[in-house]
This record gives sequence, C-alpha cells and structure tokens, in this order.
Amino acid sequence: MINLSNQIMFITGASRGIGRAAALLAAKAGAAVAINYRQAKSDAESLVAEIVKSGGKAAAFQADVGNYAEVEKMVAAVLQQFGQIDVLVNNAGIWTYGAIDTMSEEVWDETMAANLKSIYNCCRLVVPHMKARRSGKIINIASTAGQRGEAFHSHYAATKGAIISFTKSLAPELAPHNILVNCVAPGWVATDMSNAAITEEGENITNLIPLRRAGKGEEIAGAILFLASDLASYITGEILNVNGGNVLVG
Ligand code: NAP
Repeated sequence: MINLSNQIMFITGASRGIGRAAALLAAKAGAAVAINYRQAKSDAESLVAEIVKSGGKAAAFQADVGNYAEVEKMVAAVLQQFGQIDVLVNNAGIWTYGAIDTMSEEVWDETMAANLKSIYNCCRLVVPHMKARRSGKIINIASTAGQRGEAFHSHYAATKGAIISFTKSLAPELAPHNILVNCVAPGWVATDMSNAAITEEGENITNLIPLRRAGKGEEIAGAILFLASDLASYITGEILNVNGGNVLVG
C-alpha cells in the first residue's frame, strides 16, 4: 500500500545501519533516495549501486551534517540532481561514552554537532524549499535515551531529548505550510553504533526489553517509511517509539 513513487527522500547518515535500511526500504517503495554519508564513501556508493541495480534511483552526497556550510552545499547538490526534497530524514548520529567528570569539551561539542546542530542545519536549509512547495515531511531520529535519560551518555541523551522538543516545536510551526514533523525513537538496534555494547552486555540488555531482543535496522526503517507515507497524513509532532517495549520498563 505504501507507494513513494515520484518522491525524493533525503536521508542523513545513510551509509550504514538504520539510515541504510531506511534507504533500501524507501527505494523499494518507489522513492528516489539521496544518501548522505560523512566518511564511508565506499559503503554509500555500494548502497547506491544496490538500489540502482534493483531498478531504483539513488545518489550519494558527502557532508559532515554538523557543518552548516557543508550541508548548504549538499542540499544544493541534492536539489540540483533530484529537483525536490519530499522527505527529510535526520538520522545521522554518534553515540560515545562519557562520564560527566571526565567528558572532554571536544566530546561534548562533537556530539552536539553531529546529533543536534545537524538537525538545525538540515531543517534550516530544507524547510524554505518545502515551504515554497507547500509540502514536506521531516522525520527526526531520536532515542529512548531522549525520553528517560542514559547514564554515562548524558551528552547523547541531551541531544536526543532536544530533538524531541525541537520536533514538537516545528510541528505546529510548519503545519500551516503542510509540512509534517515527527520523530522515530528507537531503543537498542543492532548496528555498528551499538553492536559492541549489545554483544558485551548480552542479557543485561535483552532482559530489560519486553520483546527480549534488540531491534533490527529494518524495523526502524518500517516506522520511517510509515511516517513518510500517505498513511501518516494526519500525524505531526508525534514520537513513534520502536523499542520492543523497552522505554516502558528499562
Ligand atoms: P551507525 O550504524 O553508527 O551509523 C551512523 C551513520 O551516521 C553513518 O552513516 C555515519 O556516516 C553517519 N554519521 C555520523 N556522524 C555524521 C556526520 N557528522 N555527518 C554525516 N553523517 C554522519 O548508527 P545507527 O545505529 O544506524 O544510528 C542511526 C540513528 O539512530 C542515530 O541518530 C542514532 O542516535 C539513532 N539510534 C540508534 C540506536 C541503536 O541502538 N543503534 C538507538 C537509538 C537511536 P559514516 O558511515 O560515513 O561515518
């Protein structure tokens, strides 16, 4: 039922993990996908090749999304190549360890830039285009950490909590322009970001999840695709939890 033909989905941090799964699913639903990456050029290019091989449209765009000037160039390049952006998925992010008494200023600033300023940068530069077309969907990737906090990751949790309040602020601000703004909040998902912790902690993690397992990138991609689709045409300012029930009990 979900058909994104003639839609352009622009996904940040799509070379790996959740972003990659979202790109593949969106392409399967008929969208052309603009794939942002920061470092993993060959991963991004092989994802583009995979989508094109199965009959879809995709292109890769390098930028550090925490850097305004780089995002400005990237958005211009995406618009030049695809002509429009229908769906912006603010997915890029980093998750590093940080006890507050030893966390360096660099680690704090790096997390703020990659996880939060990135969302300002992309929205600031894509919203004028969406407003001009009176149409758009913005999907921000938050985390259970943004809802309940996360010890030893306070910098990460602070960005994710901010993403939730940013989403709730932009939703009514942009509703008159027919732009819907929502969040997907994943719990533990088996990707490069969290695989080491999931392997190391094992049942310490899975026992806290009512569904007793970590999620897969594809399961987060499903929620992103739903919010990008016409099935979600009356949803804005929502935080869609995809965490196996974890946020209720963990
Ligand atoms: P991942 O596998 O580590 O992939 C992260 C992606 O973000 C990569 O494509 C990476 O690009 C990109 N990226 C990081 N910093 C960037 C920057 N400054 N500019 C551009 N791209 C950048 O992570 P993931 O698990 O898929 O996470 C995706 C999102 O889900 C993140 O926002 C994360 O916080 C959120 N999330 C994940 C989990 C989880 O358990 N995995 C749980 C809750 C929320 P390169 O490959 O080029 O470095």
